Formats: sequence, C-alpha cells, structure tokens
Amino acid sequence: MGARSALHSGAGTAINLPRAVRFGLLVAGLLLIGACGAGGPLHVYLHDDTRPPSPGVVIFLCDGVGAGTIETGCREGWLPNINRRFVLAGARAEHAVTCVPGITYAAIATLLTGAGPGRHMVVGNRWFDPDQAFFRDYVTIESYCDINADCLAPTIYERIAPAPSVSIQAAHHRGAIQNVANWAVSGVMWLLGDYTAVDKLTATSIWQVAWWANYEGEWPTILTCYFPGADSVGHKSGASSAAYRKAVEHLDYQIGRVCDWLETQGLLETTYLVLVADHGMVDVHPEGVIDLMKLVRRDWGRRATDLMLQAGPRAWRQAYFDRFDTVVAHHNGRGAFLYFRGPNGWTQPPPPEEVEAILTTPPFEAQLWNLPGVDLVAYLADEDQAVLRSARGSARLFRRMGPAGPEYAYEPQSGDVLEYMQTPELAAFVSAGYHTARDWSQATAEQTRPEVVPALIPLLNVHRAGQVAVFAEPGYSFVTENGGHGGLHREEMRIPFMIAGPGIPAGQTIPVARSVDLVPTLLDLLGQKPDEDQWLEGLSLLDAGLAVGAAPSGGE
Ligand SMILES: [Zn+2]
Repeated sequence: MGARSALHSGAGTAINLPRAVRFGLLVAGLLLIGACGAGGPLHVYLHDDTRPPSPGVVIFLCDGVGAGTIETGCREGWLPNINRRFVLAGARAEHAVTCVPGITYAAIATLLTGAGPGRHMVVGNRWFDPDQAFFRDYVTIESYCDINADCLAPTIYERIAPAPSVSIQAAHHRGAIQNVANWAVSGVMWLLGDYTAVDKLTATSIWQVAWWANYEGEWPTILTCYFPGADSVGHKSGASSAAYRKAVEHLDYQIGRVCDWLETQGLLETTYLVLVADHGMVDVHPEGVIDLMKLVRRDWGRRATDLMLQAGPRAWRQAYFDRFDTVVAHHNGRGAFLYFRGPNGWTQPPPPEEVEAILTTPPFEAQLWNLPGVDLVAYLADEDQAVLRSARGSARLFRRMGPAGPEYAYEPQSGDVLEYMQTPELAAFVSAGYHTARDWSQATAEQTRPEVVPALIPLLNVHRAGQVAVFAEPGYSFVTENGGHGGLHREEMRIPFMIAGPGIPAGQTIPVARSVDLVPTLLDLLGQKPDEDQWLEGLSLLDAGLAVGAAPSGGE
C-alpha cells in the first residue's frame, strides 16, 4: 500500500505494465527460455541513465540447499560460481541455521522478515488454524500467494520502501514493487517435472528486471532471485542422489549467469550479493515413512483428520472439524504438528495436563516418542516451559525474560534428549542455566541438533502449531519422499549465509549467523538500521563480527 503509492508520487510513472505489454513480455519470455540447455549469457542492457542503487542488494535464495552441500561443492570444485563469487570474494558464516521448523514457507518468512515463526505465525507449508477451522496448504496454485496475507511481520521490501524492490519467483513478495512470477511458464514446467528449468527461468527473468529498471530509470535497491529447483529434485530423488547434485550444479550455473551479467552492467561496484537458503536436505529411506494418522486412530483410538480444508464457508469447515478430536498436520515432511480439540471446542485447546495424558496413556510401544524413526516430541507444560521426550528419556526447556530479551535453559531429566551433555564444555554451558538464543546457537553449532533450545517454546505458543511438535530422525519422514527436511538434524538446519560486495573483505568468516539476522544485516548495509523493533529477533552481522570497509557512495 504505502510502498507503491510512495514510489508513484516520487517517480510519477505507472509501475503496473499494461496488459498487452505483460502479454508481450510473457511471449518473449517463453521464446527466450524455450531454447534448450542451461542458458548462455544474458543479453539485456541497462540504459546509461538507469541509476544503479547506492548501495543495493541481490539475494540468491536457494531452496533446499544446505550449508554442507555448498561446502562440499565448493571444496570439490563443482560449484565454481558460488566458490568464486562468495567463498573466495566475500564473507560467510561458518555456522548459520534456519528457524524451526526448517520448512520453506516458515523459513522464507523468517529470512524476509527477521521474525521467527513464533512471531510471524507462518509455521510451515501446511498448518491447521483451530480458531478459524481452517487447514492452510500453500502448495497449490490457488493458495501459494496467501503467505502474503498470513505472515504478520513486515517484509524487508516494506521496510525499505519507498526504495524499489523486485522479487523473482518467490511466493512471499509482499511490499516488493514488482513481482516477476512467470506463473504460466513455470507452472507448465512444474507440471512437466522440469524443476531445474524453473531455476533457469529465474536467471533469465533478469531481462524483465532490466526492462523494468530502464522504464523506471533506476535499478532496484533489493532484488530477490528465488531458485526452487534443487529442493524439488531433493524431495524426489534424495539428498545424496546424482540428480540432486546435478540440480545444485545447475543452480550454481544460474547464479553465475546473474553475477556475470551484474558485472557487465557495472552493478557489482555498489551491490551486495547475498546467498542464503531456507533449509538443507536429508535422505529418507524407502521404509522410513512414519504413519501418524494410523497411530492416532488405531493405537490411540482418537478421531483424527488430516484433510487440508481451506476453502468453503467457515461454518461448513467448522462443522467438518467438529466431527474430530485430533487434527494431524504431517504433510510438511520431517516435522509434524498434532492439534487436540478442547472440552469446549477447537477455539480452546486442552490444558497441558490433558495433552500430557493423551500422550502418556497409550501403551509403551504406541507412545509417540517410542515409534521407530521419531527423534523428538515437544509439548508445553506452561507458556514458558516445554517438555521434550524421546526414546532417550525426558527433559525440559525453560524461558524467562532477561535484560536483553528472552533467555532459555535446557534441563535433562530422565534423559539427555538433545544429547548435549556428552561434550564437556557444552555440558557446563547447559548446567549454567539460562542463556540468550544467540548464545545457544553458538554453543550448539557443532551438535547434531543445533538451535533447538530457543526455538521450541515460541513455536509451541503459536495456536497454528498445535499442542505437540514431532520431529523425525534422519532417514525418516511423515510423508513418502526420498529426501526431506523440517526435522532438527544439522544437515537440514544448517544453511549457507554468505555476503560479498563493496567493502567486505574476501575470505572473512564469522562464527554464527541465524536466519533472523538477514533483515537486520541488510538494513544495516543499506544504511537503514532500526533502533528498536518488536519484530526483529536477530542482529546485524556487522554487530556480530562482520567487518565492512568503506561504505559505497550513498550509504550511511
Ligand atoms: Zn522442501
């Protein structure tokens, strides 16, 4: 709302292209990408009077490519462009983590808003809202853009307005002045199963951005290029498959195409290049499907549904869900939520004692945490205390308000559920009690399950996340897939977080970054650092050890 009108009044030209022009662009796009192969150099040019940003950011948002894959590929030489443009030329976090759950819509909302799922309230690709008798599923052509309405926190695009921003292919684009969706072309490709062609289309869409920039007379301050291909291939073929590696190689090639073009247009002098991902990917074995519906219905004797009902009048949906006492949201893959109806209906969840009774009443082998493949089960004991259970025993998480924000503690009880006590330094850290979220990230960076302690209590306090969160062990998933994510394992939690650009020393590393740090970091680089902010949970990496030399002209 504000972004568009503000830019209009400043630029005095219409942003929305006429329909005939749009159609022409689409046809031209089809012809351009119709050619086979990975695509050659981009042949489009900025006019001499098209202003470059001062400074600007190009975000390469790579769906489903974890830090481990990037590190291996750069070391072994099969990701030459990422290695050249980021590893050798820029700064990177040695340990960066996504939010919990590490599921695309939740994680991208976190990257683009700086708020975690406990604040922006998008808790996955699919979630049930008991208050609205509504089961959200973004993974449909009708609903993928509803993320823009569901996400409560302001996006980076809204924050930098009236500075212009453009988003290519990402569902979450609220506040971007131009959204290059290419849904017709990419939809057809998706139907044909040609997932990596969509990544090529993302890179090729640069010509539309250039066209727009020439029309407006300025290059966007933020451009987001979203690449969905590797994630889809990973789900289908698995994280260690040749197909997945090929998809990541192809992604690297497309990133190279965009960077090379930015260089030819002289944009790199004032542009920060940022490479991040929403989550990694782990293999799931063919026998590794955990059937939560069967457990809840057959072994617990409850009336459960998993119907993703998001259409129709509310009363009708309400009537449907009122026939059940349990909703199972397992469709996200390696993380799942259970929702129980309270004594007075769905809008009032059962109290913690009752949730615990539901979980502990079944016989040993039908208890959720004893199922083969279940890594961890979490539910609230009160709003500042969570119970963690696994086959290893039970433990608790605690939250309190500290001088600099919330602090968290982990207390093993009958078992060391997170397996943090095996490392002496970490055991001492755990025993010392409460710590900030950032200190937990740092202390658990080398662990099998990083980042868990500060994540679960805020998540479970969101009504859309239900009463119980369940995470699978590597090799397992709650749906049939060969690769997945959304669990707590480091291979799916660790993400690349790399920045190259003016004033950033090459080869610099900083120890820890969190996905909530991206927005504060970008605002800082753009000279728009906010004082205090109710949404931002992270901090600017410039305050966490990232050294940036002389700011480019126009910066602060
Ligand atoms: Zn995915």
